[in-house]
Amino acid sequence: MINVTRAFLPPLDEYNDFLERIWSNVWLTNRGELVLELEEKLREFLKVEHILVTNNGTIPIQIALKLLANNGEVITTPFSYVATTASIIWENCTPVFVDIHPEYLTIDENKIEDAITDKTSAILATHVFGNPCNVEKIESIAKKYNLKVIYDAAHSFGVEYKNQSIFDFGDISTCSFHATKLFHTGEGGALFAKNKELQHQLFYSHNFGHNGPLEFYGLGINAKISELQAAMGLSVFKYLDEIISNRKVIVETYNENLNFNILKTIKIRENTKWNYAYYPILFKNEKLLLSCQQVLLDNKIMPRRYFYPSLNKINYVNCAIMPISEDIASRILCLPLYNELDIKDVERIINIINNCL
Ligand SMILES: *Cc1c(COP(=O)(O)O)cnc(C)c1O
Repeated sequence: MINVTRAFLPPLDEYNDFLERIWSNVWLTNRGELVLELEEKLREFLKVEHILVTNNGTIPIQIALKLLANNGEVITTPFSYVATTASIIWENCTPVFVDIHPEYLTIDENKIEDAITDKTSAILATHVFGNPCNVEKIESIAKKYNLKVIYDAAHSFGVEYKNQSIFDFGDISTCSFHATKLFHTGEGGALFAKNKELQHQLFYSHNFGHNGPLEFYGLGINAKISELQAAMGLSVFKYLDEIISNRKVIVETYNENLNFNILKTIKIRENTKWNYAYYPILFKNEKLLLSCQQVLLDNKIMPRRYFYPSLNKINYVNCAIMPISEDIASRILCLPLYNELDIKDVERIINIINNCL
């Protein structure tokens, strides 16, 4: 069976070497030496200043909203993973959807201003599939209306925009290190802050608000990552360049051989160094997607409908109509893409799809 993704597992003996350090330290969490080492390596690899590694990629979104969104209206994209919208509601804010750009699939920056009211406090946008939002335009809108900007950058590990880490944009960016993501710690994630002051707020918020054992800076929650997760991250870290370049070969094989007279794929924003995290294709309509998906399933190939449904259609949110996002969600399919995927299998997937069209 070929799944849409497969977690990268490092050689067991290398993972074990990190575990031995945990055993000898007898230290399992609360920012032990492996967590600190992982953070340092990631800071350098990603070329960022302020990073805080966390226990997953969702609590960081909640912390960012808690600190910056002030229970207000949050302008957001309907085309993302459910965690983006759910976090807004979980934090007692109100999601206000703005439709997406039909080719980049990120929030349509030209429609944001129409959605701003006097209750708007923040913009939470997703660099979907690692494709950057129009960060410059969003920044200028945020300045004009005094709004905070949070990026759900769960897909954007290693992405650069204009030679700068994508995590540098906005007030806070979040990432996910879930097992299915490009870089993983089993479960895990990270927070990235624009400045030292925000970094400090993120830091205490992720550790119950503590200022030493007896005092508190403010409200907090537990978003700490454990040494066991850091051990996984450190043993995967070594293979990152290899993982990204193997994915690139697969993406180029899809790009060169799928029938793009009929299909489309995502348009990556100009000046982006992309990370090859996902391979979405767009069919002409949902019917063609479903018939093609069935043939793939018959061949034990399991693509995924990322992202379906459009998030404005979920039962616990208001049902604003988002024509572009709903249309895209109905006919987009992510093809298998992972480090160990054999090029022979990629060619087989391509043939099956081209024959369906
Ligand atoms: C994976 C993902 C998340 C959630 O990350 P977890 O680490 O699973 O909590 C949030 N947003 C997007 C866009 C994601 O793809």
